[in-house]
Parts: sequence; C-alpha cells; structure tokens
Amino acid sequence: MFNLKRWLMASSVFFSTLLMVNLAFAEMAKHTIKVDDGIYTFGDPAKGYTSMFVVTSDGVIVLEPVNTEHSTALLNAIQSVTKQPIRYLLHSHNHWDHSAGGQVFRDAGATIVAHVEAYEWMKANPRQDMALPDELWAGNRKDITLGGTTIELHYLGMNHGLGMTVFRLPREKIVFIADLVTPNRLLFTIVPDFNVKQWIRTLREIEAMDFKTAVFTHGKPVGSKKDVAANREFIEDLRAAIHAEFKKGTNPFEIPGVVRLPKYQDWAMYDEWLAMNAWRLLLDDHMGPFPWRPNHSYEVGK
Ligand SMILES: [Zn+2]
Repeated sequence: MFNLKRWLMASSVFFSTLLMVNLAFAEMAKHTIKVDDGIYTFGDPAKGYTSMFVVTSDGVIVLEPVNTEHSTALLNAIQSVTKQPIRYLLHSHNHWDHSAGGQVFRDAGATIVAHVEAYEWMKANPRQDMALPDELWAGNRKDITLGGTTIELHYLGMNHGLGMTVFRLPREKIVFIADLVTPNRLLFTIVPDFNVKQWIRTLREIEAMDFKTAVFTHGKPVGSKKDVAANREFIEDLRAAIHAEFKKGTNPFEIPGVVRLPKYQDWAMYDEWLAMNAWRLLLDDHMGPFPWRPNHSYEVGK
C-alpha cells in the first residue's frame, strides 16, 4: 500500500542529498580552472594550496596531493570533468604540507611518483596521512608520456626542501612550480628550508625554460614567467637593501627593523613578513648558506 508519509520522507532525503551533491559539484567547479585543453588547476583559495591535473586519452596525471581532504576534493573535481582513470600522482617535494594525502589516489589506481631525495625524507619522517611513493626517480630529469601528452620532471638541485621537482608540459608550454615562486607575496615567513643562493640560481634556470604559463601552489594559481622573475628580483633587492645598511654602518641586529622596500609594499604580507625575511637573509650572510648538502648525494644511477 502506498504510504504517503514514508514516500515524502524518502523523497525529501533523496532531493536534499541531490541538492547537496549539486552544491558540492558547484563548489568544486568554483575551485577548478581550465588552463588549456585537458589541463586544470584545482584549489580552494581560502586554504591556500593549488594542485594541477592533466587529462589525456589514456588516463589522468595528478600533481600535488597536499592532504587527504584536499586530495578527496581534487579527485571529485577530476571525476566531474573526466571518466578517465587516474594513472599517476606526482610529488613536487618532501614537505608534509604538500606531500600528504597520496593514499586517496593510490586507492583510485594511481602510481605515486617522487624524486628519490623526497622519498628518503618521507620514509625517515613518516606522518599519518602521508603515503610513501611507489616509484622513485633519480638524477636531474625524467619524462612521463601518457596518451600522447608528455610531462617533464626537472630536478634542479638544491633550492627548497628535498627532491624539489619543477614540471613542464613542452607542447602546451606550461610549468608547475611548488613553493619556489609565490606571485605578489613576500617570501614565506622565516623562509624555511630554502638555500637562498641556490634558490636564485634555480629561478634563473626556470626563467630560461620555454613556457608561457606557470601554475603555482600558492598565491594566484595561474601566472607567467614575469612572476618568476619578480620573485627572484625581490630576493635580490632585499639582499641589496641589507648590504646597503651594512655599508651605512647600521647595527646588524637593527637592520631587519629598518629595512624597507617600497617597490613591494602592495605585495601580500609586506608589513607582516618583511622583517622575518630580512632576518633570514641577514643570517645567511652571517653564517654562510644553509641548509646545504653535497650535490652528488642523490645522483643515484649516474
Ligand atoms: Zn615546501
């Protein structure tokens, strides 16, 4: 017998679930930007992390899992634009705040890939929510081709963290850069785990690469080579300003409090982080470059 009350209850659950699903998809669509055919960024600006995914005729390549919550939303976003299976998850570098969440993609069938340097750090510094990569690579370069699309993995040596990989899609002229460039923002707080001298060298090497579009893990998700150059110039300008204070005879301990770079006053975190950035560069000049490691340590197989 038709039970109106039960039908109304069941249908209201059904329609509210449908509404929630639709809202979730609308929310995801808001966080997905199409950069080129089959190439998308994904990230909630409020949470500050951007990933990228590449849809090919033979499956999907995902860059940067971040954490389980981000990866789950990212997987949903991918599945809302394609039915292709997830083939690869590629790590940019070792740090926990970028490298967690990989299990979401392993469960979806992906092979997780990282540079051996990042892998060794992840193995030595386990964390719940961080899956160890399945496939390692060593040396300076690896290419992955899937469904006619090639993605180059560039290891540019010491700069930030371990195993830092810059990705380039040569046909589309797109690069994906984690942490090494954050457009229109000061350096991150105390500039943790960056070798400043090697970082500048790396940025010059990225600037010499052939690309038109850059995707960044932090800040505005999509930019260009100009953003890479601007970040490098900021570091150089801050270093020059510190050196100018040295020349004037300013007490070194007072330099972070007096140094100003009006050219960058509109950048995010200018007031909050300028002194912290200055301290870090000052100490680098005082103690010598850090962190540092011999370049050959991870040239396995070369
Ligand atoms: Zn990092």
